Amino acid sequence: MKPFLAVNKEERWNMYDEVKGACVCPSCPSYTACAEKNGESLFCILGMSFHCIRDDRGCICPGCSLYIEYGMTRKDYCMKGSEKDLRWEKGLG
Ligand code: SF4
Ligand code: SF4
Repeated sequence: MKPFLAVNKEERWNMYDEVKGACVCPSCPSYTACAEKNGESLFCILGMSFHCIRDDRGCICPGCSLYIEYGMTRKDYCMKGSEKDLRWEKGLG
């Protein structure tokens, strides 16, 4: 995920827009109409759903091309927080 760290905020937003299309969250059973209406996705990078996803009906992140490309290790990002946050939390324990 380091490619997302070494750039300024405008470049980051552009990178998010570029990769968002590869996010398979909209095909996930846990994804909701509320999340779709609010344009929520890319939870592994942007963090948990603001208020649209609360019911865990499974997570298909491990099958996403970005998951593999960026070396992600967790899942359920929409309900638990970003990969970065989850790694940081584990480090606290
Ligand atoms: S790993 Fe999950 S949250 Fe991240 S882009 Fe892929 S489907 Fe979306
Ligand atoms: S982060 Fe995982 S559980 Fe949440 S919508 Fe995306 S694929 Fe589904």
